[in-house]
Amino acid sequence: MQVLDDIKAVFFDMDGVLFDSMPSHEYTWIHSLKKYGINFPPEEAYMNEGRTGYATIRIAFEKYLHRLPTRDEEEAVYTLKTELMAKRPKAPVLPMMQELIEFLRKNGVQVFVVTGSRQPSLVDKLNAQFKVEASNIISGADVKQGKPHPEPYLIAWQRSGLSKDQCLVVENAPMGVESAKAAGLRCLAVNTGKLPDDVLISAGADSLFENTTALYKAFISH
Ligand code: MG
Repeated sequence: MQVLDDIKAVFFDMDGVLFDSMPSHEYTWIHSLKKYGINFPPEEAYMNEGRTGYATIRIAFEKYLHRLPTRDEEEAVYTLKTELMAKRPKAPVLPMMQELIEFLRKNGVQVFVVTGSRQPSLVDKLNAQFKVEASNIISGADVKQGKPHPEPYLIAWQRSGLSKDQCLVVENAPMGVESAKAAGLRCLAVNTGKLPDDVLISAGADSLFENTTALYKAFISH
């Protein structure tokens, strides 16, 4: 695979790409929405992954209660989800991702993280585990429109100062792949979740990897 020849920056999604955090997001979405009478199916956590939390709450209310949440309900669900998330065990780093990021840096490739998450601990966590600086993190707090809108990846691209064909996205979620492709960027998908491969291919992924170890091997074998 021609990965590194012309690539000068890689934009990584965070949940399900750097951290194995999706099982906790699935659990906390199900339990925070249950309080409002919504039986959120587990796969919905994966289908909506990448959206901002507020967008997911609106979609869940519209789809299952046939109405929009009030501002207070939106805040209450989001607060409850955040509280439940804080009680979950720390998500482990996905296999070979620290090694991949180290390899990219050694090869002069810039590393960015582009996530819909807005957890206050996010910058510290990314810095501690992956040595990513705050200026290279685009979070849910930096965007007006979350994934699948192209805005998050366009911000990363602008910060990189590179041409689009020098940048590459790594995503695990269909909304994230759509966001990257709408931004005009090449996107590798890694299927670490519960959705069939077809969902990521249909979203527009240029290549698909079965796990993060396979992704790492594709980079280093080049
Ligand atoms: Mg993700």
